[in-house]
Amino acid sequence: MLSFADRTEQKLLQPTDPDPVEWVNEPGRSEILLVCEHAGRAVPAALGDLGIAPEEMDRHIAYDVGAEGLARGLAERLGAPLVLQRYSRLVIDCNRPLEALDCVIGESDGTVVPVNGDVSEGDRRRRFDEIHQPFHRAINDTLDQRQIDGKPRFLVTVHSFTPVMRATGAVRDFELGLLYNLDARLAERLAETFSAANPDVTVKLNQPYVVDDQSDYTIPQHGERRGIPHVLIEVRNDLINDDRGQQEWADRLAGPLRLAVDSLEGNA
Ligand SMILES: [Zn+2]
Repeated sequence: MLSFADRTEQKLLQPTDPDPVEWVNEPGRSEILLVCEHAGRAVPAALGDLGIAPEEMDRHIAYDVGAEGLARGLAERLGAPLVLQRYSRLVIDCNRPLEALDCVIGESDGTVVPVNGDVSEGDRRRRFDEIHQPFHRAINDTLDQRQIDGKPRFLVTVHSFTPVMRATGAVRDFELGLLYNLDARLAERLAETFSAANPDVTVKLNQPYVVDDQSDYTIPQHGERRGIPHVLIEVRNDLINDDRGQQEWADRLAGPLRLAVDSLEGNA
């Protein structure tokens, strides 16, 4: 039996570390729930600098560049609640199941992360229990409450992708990806409404990634499992790496998203 002091010592997050979960707008106030898993760059004090150079924390490997600003812009325009993850995905990836090898990643786009390379099972578990799970409980509780209240639910997750992968040289020359796996309803409808309003933008379905149960967590867990319409939005990060770009893309996306949701109301 552990004493209280032992148990406290074993916790990863200390009172001076940020809360993993940040809400913008009251949970449940709209039919759209916005989620940004890769918003933050915080690292628990106990993990130091993860063993990497400070400038690595400015790269896409640490967070989705511009996604937080875009998600906040959408929350404001849609009057929708937004849940943000404050910790870097180099601490734990909140869009992966615990069993995925890259949930705690040892090397990302050519950068070795020494603190993750030799992470113990216990440390991995603590990151999951203290950072990943509180975030997903917040999403879960919000969607459950809306179901109890008999209200419609649409799940929209906001991400960004890098134009060029440093490690492989892979180039992504389109602006917007709309991703789904088993349920295409919201992604396909949004592709139509977005393209009608933004004929100058190249939109691709299921690019630059595909959604599945190993490379994703939010869509399978909270969207597919409930059978509610959902979409994972990926904007190329050079378009939203400053406030102007984030506001521009929030303007581009908000109206089409509202139209797409309204046209599916009754299926949610
Ligand atoms: Zn992401």
